[in-house]
Amino acid sequence: MSKIVVLGAGIAGHVAASHLRRKLSKEHEVVVVSPNSNYQWIPSNIWVGIGRMKPKDILFPLAPLYKKKQIDYKQAKAISFHPEGDNNEPRPYVLAEYVDGDEKGTTEKVTYDYLINATGPKLNFEGTEGLSPGKNKAHSVCTYTHAQEAWIALEGLIKQMKEGKKIKILIGTGHAKSTCQGAAFEYILNVEQELRRHKVRDMAEITWISNEYHLGDFGMDGMLMSYGSNIMKSNEMVEMIFEDRGINWILGAAVNKVEDGLVHYENLDGDHKQKTYDFAMLIPAFSGHGFKAYNKEGADITDKLFRGFMIVDADYTPKPYEEWSVQDWPETYQNPSYPNIFAPGIAFAPPHSISKPRKSKNGTDITPAPPRTGMPSGITAKLVADNIIDMIKHSSNKMHHKGSMGNMGAACIASAGFGMTKGSGVSITTFPIVPDYNKYPDTQGRKLGKTFGTIGLAGHWLKLALHYAFIYKAKMKPFWWLIPE
Ligand SMILES: Cc1cc2nc3c(=O)[nH]c(=O)nc-3n(C[C@H](O)[C@H](O)[C@H](O)COP(=O)(O)OP(=O)(O)OC[C@H]3O[C@@H](n4cnc5c(N)ncnc54)[C@H](O)[C@@H]3O)c2cc1C
Repeated sequence: MSKIVVLGAGIAGHVAASHLRRKLSKEHEVVVVSPNSNYQWIPSNIWVGIGRMKPKDILFPLAPLYKKKQIDYKQAKAISFHPEGDNNEPRPYVLAEYVDGDEKGTTEKVTYDYLINATGPKLNFEGTEGLSPGKNKAHSVCTYTHAQEAWIALEGLIKQMKEGKKIKILIGTGHAKSTCQGAAFEYILNVEQELRRHKVRDMAEITWISNEYHLGDFGMDGMLMSYGSNIMKSNEMVEMIFEDRGINWILGAAVNKVEDGLVHYENLDGDHKQKTYDFAMLIPAFSGHGFKAYNKEGADITDKLFRGFMIVDADYTPKPYEEWSVQDWPETYQNPSYPNIFAPGIAFAPPHSISKPRKSKNGTDITPAPPRTGMPSGITAKLVADNIIDMIKHSSNKMHHKGSMGNMGAACIASAGFGMTKGSGVSITTFPIVPDYNKYPDTQGRKLGKTFGTIGLAGHWLKLALHYAFIYKAKMKPFWWLIPE
């Protein structure tokens, strides 16, 4: 009998727990430890942030589902890792603190045979002075509560615009090293469309602010892609979209301070600038959760498990940008020091940035961090679950299931406006996510044909279809496993 503990019930944790439970007999325990009582389909936060969906449309409570599926669920947060146990507990464990109910505030040593750390990122709002969702007129759409607050603020401004007030909207990244430009890009298009729907578009100045060097970098160094029968660079496509919609842009910007209606940033020329706004949505930097790890004797071994995010089978040797390679990226998400610990989804430490690192003239690093989107999070979680199942069923330590972001694609489908006939979508599909310059030397490391962009209603339909399909799948309804990650 084995006990598998999954930390986090986001895309990666939930996918791992669902597959483990389906494929392992009930003599094996599957335990999920996660602080949020709900599963949320994060990509649809964008629609909550423009008031076109309610939080209830994109979430469901985890406890009843896990009870029905015989997954043990602890509404708690992991605090520290003890991969060798301690003097009183011979088994490895994670110290978890309950966050709700009668047990709130109490801790438990949650022992395991296998551990999946799927805790995703810490939304590091504190990394930028004054950037706190809902404060200073600056918002976030990273959680459904943030997204709802963003909509309440925006809705209020739409009313004021209808009464004749001109306003300024600023959307993008809120830190020199933020990632998730794709989400901000989707949000700016949706906001622009929503203002049109309310017939107040002419009352708003809309500006994109980003740490990207080129528009459409998305933390992936941009891409060369097929666009209809043409070949286009992602910056050309995004430029075209922004120009078409009258959206201004500020690039290479390290936002370092947010005040009420005023953003301070440094640009690559080393200039310190400011931008006023009435409504902002700025994505914070993502960081690890700051977990600590201890060995059996209680000595600090955090650096065996973490370098910000969790250490896995990547090559972390420091190298100049030109020497980084697609082979540096992990394939099994297994910790090298403790082979029974894995970190799929966003929880693993990436070996390097994908976008070319750049510094301002003052030496400030201004580089988008690598994106880790939903599809790879699901795929890596499933392959980790499958390797653990093999280890349990065949007592083998061989990792048969592998998947690197160097041979995985990502689809960024940015809906731009809601409704079956009124919506539209900008779909950018990239393969592979981490460019492979040896395999695809003439096309900037990506496979053309599998890397493409489209604009039109079909993208919007696809995004809606994915919303319903993934919520169906997450609810583990009949034959859910047939829907791919
Ligand atoms: C607004 C927005 C839109 C996006 N749109 C898209 C999109 O269109 N397409 C796409 O592919 N990707 C999209 N993404 C990215 C996608 O949401 C992420 O890649 C994905 O959610 C990562 O999954 P994860 O499970 O690794 O992390 P998360 O989904 O962040 O899950 C982490 C889990 O860990 C839990 N947790 C946190 N701390 C602890 C702790 N101490 N102990 C235990 N559990 C803990 C959390 O409560 C959560 O359940 C978007 C992201 C955002 C923010």
